[in-house]
Amino acid sequence: TAPELIRNFCIIAHIDHGKSTLADRMLQITGVVEPRAMRAQYLDRMDIERERGITIKSQAVRMPWEVDGRAYALNMIDTPGHVDFTYEVSRSLAACEGTLLLVDAAQGIEAQTLANLYLALENDLTIIPVLNKIDLPAAQPEKYAEELAGLIGCEPEDCLRVSGKTGEGVEAVLDRIVAETPHPVGDADAPARAMIFDSVYDTYRGVVTYVRVVDGKLAPREKIEMLSTGATHELLEIGVSSPEPTPSKGLGVGEVGYLITGVKDVRQSRVGDTVTNAKKPATQALGGYRDPKPMVFSGLFPIDGSDYPALRDALDKLKLNDAALVYEPETSAALGFGFRCGFLGLLHLEIVRERLEREFGLDLISTAPSVVYQVTMEDRSEFEVTNPSEYPAGKIREVREPIVRTTVLTPSEYVGAVMELCQSKRGQMKGMDYLSEDRVELRYTMPLAEIVFDFFDQLKSKTKGYASLDYENDGEQAADLVKVDILLHGDPVDAFSAIVHRDKAYAYGVMMAGKLKDLIPRQQFEVPIQAAIGSRIIARETIRAMRKDVLSKCYGGDISRKRKLLEKQKEGKKRMKMVGSVEVPQEAFIAALSSD
Ligand code: GDP
Ligand code: MG
Repeated sequence: TAPELIRNFCIIAHIDHGKSTLADRMLQITGVVEPRAMRAQYLDRMDIERERGITIKSQAVRMPWEVDGRAYALNMIDTPGHVDFTYEVSRSLAACEGTLLLVDAAQGIEAQTLANLYLALENDLTIIPVLNKIDLPAAQPEKYAEELAGLIGCEPEDCLRVSGKTGEGVEAVLDRIVAETPHPVGDADAPARAMIFDSVYDTYRGVVTYVRVVDGKLAPREKIEMLSTGATHELLEIGVSSPEPTPSKGLGVGEVGYLITGVKDVRQSRVGDTVTNAKKPATQALGGYRDPKPMVFSGLFPIDGSDYPALRDALDKLKLNDAALVYEPETSAALGFGFRCGFLGLLHLEIVRERLEREFGLDLISTAPSVVYQVTMEDRSEFEVTNPSEYPAGKIREVREPIVRTTVLTPSEYVGAVMELCQSKRGQMKGMDYLSEDRVELRYTMPLAEIVFDFFDQLKSKTKGYASLDYENDGEQAADLVKVDILLHGDPVDAFSAIVHRDKAYAYGVMMAGKLKDLIPRQQFEVPIQAAIGSRIIARETIRAMRKDVLSKCYGGDISRKRKLLEKQKEGKKRMKMVGSVEVPQEAFIAALSSD
């Protein structure tokens, strides 16, 4: 297709404002998905995306659309909206010339509407404002058109009004994309340059690499080269997703599609890399992506120690799919061999873990998440701590913790509650603006450690779900932090150590000891649980001894009940972990490490 007839666009919005649903209608209206095959959130392929109703991976689909008798090819890239996945959004944006900025007409602008808009502006994208869900009785398109127009500097009439659910107004959106989005520009005669914006490992086809061609042309059977490593591969298949993979004779300037080289090693196809022809290679790489920086670290350990090699293999494969995931081997006294992994946030952690368990059949324990601390010792030596159990015991001069610039958007009636919450999380107020009469933007700087745990849940519950949150790195600052250890029967359990603010250490110790007391079943002997800062004990609980014979509980009872109990006990055994001489159920780890 000639570049003049191509439009590359994405859809950005706050989570749940209806991107995937609007994408569904476009697939239907352009006829690429037959009515019979249609199902909701068509592009959310992963089970976990479908169950949670959220988009994790970006998706690229090619759709035909005719305007004034000219046949255009629209490449749509659906993006995730959650704050943890901003890096996916920024990768998608770099492959597009235009974007739909979608706003729920019953909700108005939210924190990620702003964050995504700024990303789009940074990438010089043409922005088409769209109010969605106009079919809802609670929709107030007039009101929010004013808000949206005020934000991006257009007229309220310029905001399209659509319903992704009913399909109303969706054709007008497609027409507008053709009319307003610039077509891609590139040098067709130059050596090929294509940007990798996603890579997926497929059990049958090996590595599938998604690219956007900037210059030149890529064709099947050619030898291609990865510019960053110089590695060459033969192109076995090249094609477009529409939305099923469809082989083509090649991809030219501005086109978006996939490549298959038969490579099985997932590290050879890095997101952000430039693909070129091996015979006539380009010299200048395309501006890659900023490498996403992990913000939260946690240890992942197989419950069954012999799964360690399988876990490493699974992480290697996931890494290809997820540029933001980092990991290195870790050994824990309590949990054995595993990996210290870095994530963008807690949702990212949860999702990686869930994918490892589901897609690779692993049973895992994850330890308490930790941010990255910069520690300076009295002797001026400096190092990073991402694992509380590596926190130094010697003379510390200073500890610095990451802080984030936080934006909360809330209806004005909850301003007091939000301020109180932010203050309790060591937040410092930086500013406050009324976006409209009843919508307020609050800006704080806050330690990341306070945000990653349960800030979002608390924010939601204190504002009846109406507030929204976004944050970005803002460097680091010194803080008065201590390491709290948890001892079971006198042995420190490295998996439960945490670095916390001194003012909160006591509360943390009491809380953890109390939780563990309820979570760890009685043993054959008495088990003291202690929380300590260094050698100072700050909290203590005791699990009293008990005979473990569960069958004695139902003597004389019916056999099937006994058998059930036995089976339950067996099932339980599998999920037990020995910590020193104490048996700890996996659930105790998970429950103790989750906040409530
Ligand atoms: P995304 O997170 O932006 O991809 O949002 P989804 O497309 O997954 O939609 C979130 C929720 O809003 C789902 O329950 C959809 O059914 C619903 N939804 C999306 N678009 C519309 C719409 O136009 N009208 C109505 N009434 N509901 C919608
Ligand atoms: Mg979605």
